[in-house]
Amino acid sequence: MKDNLFAVAMKRGRFILASAVLLVCSFQLGAADNSRGESAKEGNAASYAEGGHDRVNDALQFFDLYSTDYAKRVVDYLTQRGLKGREAGTKEAVKAMKFIVKEFRKAGYEPLLQPFSKEELEAAIGKPKEGKAAYPLQQCNVVAKLEGSEKDKFIVIGAHYDHLGYIEGVGIHPGADDNASGIVALLSLARMMKAADIVPRYTILFCAWDGEEKGLLGSKFFVNTWPSETVVPGCEASLKESVVHYMNFDMVGRTITPENPGVMFAWNNNYPYLLKICQAAQKEIDLPFQVLLDERRGDGRGGSDYAPFSAQDIPFIAWMEDFMHVDYHKPTDTPDKLHWEKLRKTTQLAFAILYNLSTVGCE
Ligand SMILES: [Zn+2]
Repeated sequence: MKDNLFAVAMKRGRFILASAVLLVCSFQLGAADNSRGESAKEGNAASYAEGGHDRVNDALQFFDLYSTDYAKRVVDYLTQRGLKGREAGTKEAVKAMKFIVKEFRKAGYEPLLQPFSKEELEAAIGKPKEGKAAYPLQQCNVVAKLEGSEKDKFIVIGAHYDHLGYIEGVGIHPGADDNASGIVALLSLARMMKAADIVPRYTILFCAWDGEEKGLLGSKFFVNTWPSETVVPGCEASLKESVVHYMNFDMVGRTITPENPGVMFAWNNNYPYLLKICQAAQKEIDLPFQVLLDERRGDGRGGSDYAPFSAQDIPFIAWMEDFMHVDYHKPTDTPDKLHWEKLRKTTQLAFAILYNLSTVGCE
């Protein structure tokens, strides 16, 4: 699979060179906008309106780097009975984590581990509230880095790999949608960016979070210990100064109406350019499903890993289901119920947006 991906990328060598020239030009346009004194947020929206069309078309060229066969293999691995539902703190979660490390390696990354013990977690985010279960003894985030030309500005992409595990009297929770589907999107974006040979403007950190089901533990640890020497050695700036964008995937594989699947696009509405980018991408892409808009504020609210980023008003996008399906948090959340085309299209739309954010700018 890797060979195929690289073959496609090679064929596109000339194209990439041409787009690189275009991108440099559009970046300069953007800079000129800012120097006219527009607010940063408006400046980006304006520069997107000028060049958005071309950039979405650029991104389209890389869409077939997404593979549904690959998606199925990832979901099959993560949902197998032997992984017992990937509960944070168990040896099965460690197995899932090692699988993700391997997949990042196969895609050409040297992923970093961000392990954290119960004590370290308590020091970073406080003890569990009264009546809540103790934290797992040990957890681990996985972070794959694609270095950008601005090394110390970051786009963080995240999806959690843990799930509910085995519950006595109920059974194993395979978590195909929650959140093997999000891990497919995360790994696919990492593979696509690498195979397309894109050198982004900002460094991209692809993060597989642990402990989401136990209270967003992995993403909270990441946010509260920023700048971590493990993840961003040498970086001294705060999260707010360093992370220009966060994108989350949690439950993106199901739909209630297979004939007209939908995905929810939630965004921090303190940054209107995020909606503009999505709308422009939708216009250009053949997208036989609805994108439902779910405006949010950067106020820290939310039930998934974007919440800790939202609490610091990072511009974020969160992809999720447009409804809560009947198999949510049940042993019946199985791979046969996934809508593979929806997962593919969602990931491709997200790729087009990431391509724009990471090559042009998101301040
Ligand atoms: Zn989830």
